[in-house]
Amino acid sequence: MESELRTMSIPEPPFEGACLCGAVRVRVTASPLLTVACHCRDCQKFSASAFSLTTMFPSDSFSYDGELVLGGLRSVERAHYFCKSCLNFIYSQLKGAPERVNLRTSILDQAASFEPFLEVMTEAKMPWVDVPAVRSYSRFPETPEELQSLMRDYSKR
Ligand SMILES: [Zn+2]
Ligand SMILES: [Zn+2]
Repeated sequence: MESELRTMSIPEPPFEGACLCGAVRVRVTASPLLTVACHCRDCQKFSASAFSLTTMFPSDSFSYDGELVLGGLRSVERAHYFCKSCLNFIYSQLKGAPERVNLRTSILDQAASFEPFLEVMTEAKMPWVDVPAVRSYSRFPETPEELQSLMRDYSKR
């Protein structure tokens, strides 16, 4: 089985990373909760690419040095934080889920190790994109319970 041959081995915390210019440094002391590729149109624009890569961590395990500014649409529901100097996208946070940060995977030094387990919004996926995610949603998981169940499956991978 292909799924058994693919070993998604993730290094042990702590994890470190930095923005493009290095003015913002991040540190995470916990293992990731979930790794996600999002194909939505917003993420395509945010990432200047075909999809975004997110690694979710518990908020209390995440810290950073440097100055961040709010970017994106500055909606009440979700905040998108960028390096003030190079404007690299660092992380986002949902008002309804303050216990989690959605770190942009590319910020992490070992970004390549955080292979996406879940892909969402495949209905907006560019047709030539192929993400090797184990779980796939045409839109988003619909309930908090569904998300919890995905995190459980991810932690058992
Ligand atoms: Zn920067
Ligand atoms: Zn998205």
